[in-house]
Amino acid sequence: MLYLQTDLALLTEHQPLTDYRIDQPHWTRRDFVNAGLATACAVALGACAHTSMPRGSAAIGAAADLDDLGQSLHGRFLRDGSPGYDGARKVWNLAYDRHPLAMARCVDIDDVRRCVEFGRRHSVPVAIRGGGHSYAGFGVADGALQVDLGAFTTVTVDQGRRVASVCGGTRIRELLTATLAAGLVTPMGSCGSVGVAGLTLAGGDTAGRGLYGTACDNLIGAQLVTADGAVLELGPQQNEDLYWAIRGGGGNFGVVTRLDFRLYPVLTSHNAHFEFGWSGIGEAMRAFGGLVRETPDEVRAVFAVRAETGASATCGFLGDPAAAAAYLEKWRAAFRRFDAKMSTSTPNPEGEVWASTSVAVDGAFLEGVSDGAAGVLARAAIAGRGYGDILMGLSSGVAARIGMTDTAYPLRGTGLSVILSSEWTRPEDRARSQQWVAEYGTALRPWAHRAYVNYIPPSPPERIREIYGVNYPRLAKIKARYDSGNLFRSNQNILPEAGG
Ligand SMILES: Cc1cc2nc3c(=O)[nH]c(=O)nc-3n(C[C@H](O)[C@H](O)[C@H](O)COP(=O)(O)OP(=O)(O)OC[C@H]3O[C@@H](n4cnc5c(N)ncnc54)[C@H](O)[C@@H]3O)c2cc1C
Repeated sequence: MLYLQTDLALLTEHQPLTDYRIDQPHWTRRDFVNAGLATACAVALGACAHTSMPRGSAAIGAAADLDDLGQSLHGRFLRDGSPGYDGARKVWNLAYDRHPLAMARCVDIDDVRRCVEFGRRHSVPVAIRGGGHSYAGFGVADGALQVDLGAFTTVTVDQGRRVASVCGGTRIRELLTATLAAGLVTPMGSCGSVGVAGLTLAGGDTAGRGLYGTACDNLIGAQLVTADGAVLELGPQQNEDLYWAIRGGGGNFGVVTRLDFRLYPVLTSHNAHFEFGWSGIGEAMRAFGGLVRETPDEVRAVFAVRAETGASATCGFLGDPAAAAAYLEKWRAAFRRFDAKMSTSTPNPEGEVWASTSVAVDGAFLEGVSDGAAGVLARAAIAGRGYGDILMGLSSGVAARIGMTDTAYPLRGTGLSVILSSEWTRPEDRARSQQWVAEYGTALRPWAHRAYVNYIPPSPPERIREIYGVNYPRLAKIKARYDSGNLFRSNQNILPEAGG
């Protein structure tokens, strides 16, 4: 069962949690080559910006081989062949069984720089792992050096300035726990164990984007370790090309060690939920499409087909209860044959925890619900009954109005972000799941040239080029300038092209 921010029902505060998370690889101390300098993740605040011990570039350059690298790190280090290696290389999506050369649990910027330097000198690709929740399994790669930021998680909230700063491995639950304590929030995804950076750098499919823009639109500053080991500050007046590129371009440009977010007061969402089951799915979907064609910025909406229970639609209105009640009447009238389940919700840092599993996904960004697209999705729903989920979430308001070239994130204009997903537990079901996702993902392409890069499988350059569209040449040029050797290629890869 797939849960995303688009599913408004998940925002109720007291959701039951499933019992397993794969946040932390199963590290044991004796598994590691360790310099004895390991610092806990509780580095002092501002720690994303400071090294715990000053060290010169000569020391960084001395990491001539893997053993030296392991000895030089403050955090722990695990090589291929060490006991515990197999547990540690697992990521959330168990469909990806990859073997990195080594894994470094970085606890500060020195560690990150050493790893990057090693990768560059020895032409070993660097795979960045934050929360480990990439559907495409990008946090681990065959033969790569993994920079694992899972222990690099400090959060600071400046209530007066309404800004939160997080280190590069922070998860959503850690960010929102800290901001909600100050009565503030920033648009984020629904699952508390997803990495903040992995979500934000790709754009973000987030709650509240109609009012405030999506996650990357609220990223007001960042710190980045580039392929040549430089530590750069990014923001409106600092390294603006990189600041533009990381807002949508994913982990292509280096390791982001700090992210600064704009914060907003918490609003209550007033929700109406309708269950349609298995009949008339296409018709319900078209009615949903009509309702979301034009909406106030306060509105959030999702159409879902659950493998077990069938189709449903949910609309949430953020803020004023009277305005919400008046608006939701429209939905009740459109779906009058169905009971409306009314509720209110506020952001919940844990969100919904979706247990680690094997899953196939594909995505599409539709400009509306055309008859053709609704037909494909309705057929997909029936064909995938019992094993295929579909979610279609509205992107509108501020997130839609920001200019296509203002950031690298290409999903501007009002639209519906679709994700098809199918999970399996028995190996013999793998082919069925992959085939369903591939068949209906491909069938949607005539209506969707774009897709959210975090909702698609590892994809060839031509698909990535098509998705980024007008922004691709600029991204490729910035990639060539800062990562000409494509050190950071365990991602939806933007190829370095100096000519752009
Ligand atoms: C259960 C579940 C729910 C989800 N819900 C949502 C949702 O509501 N909204 C949404 O938008 N997405 C959602 N996603 C998708 C999610 O945003 C992406 O999978 C994202 O890549 C996860 O980031 P991560 O750090 O956890 O993953 P990882 O696998 O650790 O990282 C994935 C990639 O992100 C990049 N990256 C991560 N951290 C950094 C960093 N510090 N510096 C540079 N690059 C970095 C790297 O390229 C890395 O390989 C969900 C995924 C799952 C599995």
